[in-house]
Amino acid sequence: MNQTSYIGRFAPSPSGPLHMGSLVTALGSFLQAKVNNGKWLLRIDDIDPPRIMAGAIESIQVTLKAHGLIWDDDVILQSQNSQYYEHILSQLSRQNLLYPCECTRAQIKAIGEFYSGTCRDKKQIQAPYSLRIKNQFNISQINDVRLGQLEVNSNATQEDFIVRRKDGLYAYHLASVADDINLGVTEIVRGEDLITATACQWALFKTLGKALPQCLHLPLVRSADGRKFSKQNHAPALNLNKTEENLIVALDHLNLPVPKHIPQQTQAILDWAIQAWADSTP
Ligand code: GLU
Repeated sequence: MNQTSYIGRFAPSPSGPLHMGSLVTALGSFLQAKVNNGKWLLRIDDIDPPRIMAGAIESIQVTLKAHGLIWDDDVILQSQNSQYYEHILSQLSRQNLLYPCECTRAQIKAIGEFYSGTCRDKKQIQAPYSLRIKNQFNISQINDVRLGQLEVNSNATQEDFIVRRKDGLYAYHLASVADDINLGVTEIVRGEDLITATACQWALFKTLGKALPQCLHLPLVRSADGRKFSKQNHAPALNLNKTEENLIVALDHLNLPVPKHIPQQTQAILDWAIQAWADSTP
């Protein structure tokens, strides 16, 4: 197949097994990549060792394969990319755009909901400290492929966010943007809960002088009480004996109800979904 330059990715954190919410994101990003004749990469966000659940990295891959969601190229593990994150940090440091911050969450909360740059001009810092970026961008809108122009909370997105944590670990925004740049990702497909994160990350792309990828935010799956399906909320793991049913439910969430005449087989459902997704995309 002739591939265009479209590169998409699914980037789960291995903090637990995949659940229906993750399947919707995996499927939505997979369909976008297929419809655009592009690559679909699997990136495992394993930069936070205390949050990694034993066996999750393997179980994510087994689960995706069982649902016919086969990624291109080798799996990318963020834990292997420290060198590149350091490279990005030193670029920011050379630009004089990083500063150490010793504030605790409680101190920030006591002043207001958002970090107001307390340590920007501090001369003396006591360890331990995190590294924050001097955020020069005030992203108040993002252009979403599915949802159009979106307003974002600019208090959150103009914050000097953390790029390296007090415990020395790389922060999510830094690692995600660094990898999206390094992998040449052209479109980021993720859940609607990450709209604010996308806007913060846009600031980082711009700071690094990189072109913005496109973005597409997918609807969230919620439990009966309205909470987002997540590992923290103990969303049940996908049952691998029900992959066809799972795909049908996930496609329903993506507004693609599978017609009854489609054979209840993983590949047949996916083939139908690729066509249906293409037909429903403007
Ligand atoms: N690994 C994160 C998550 O699962 C981020 C995904 C992303 O950057 O799209 O929520």
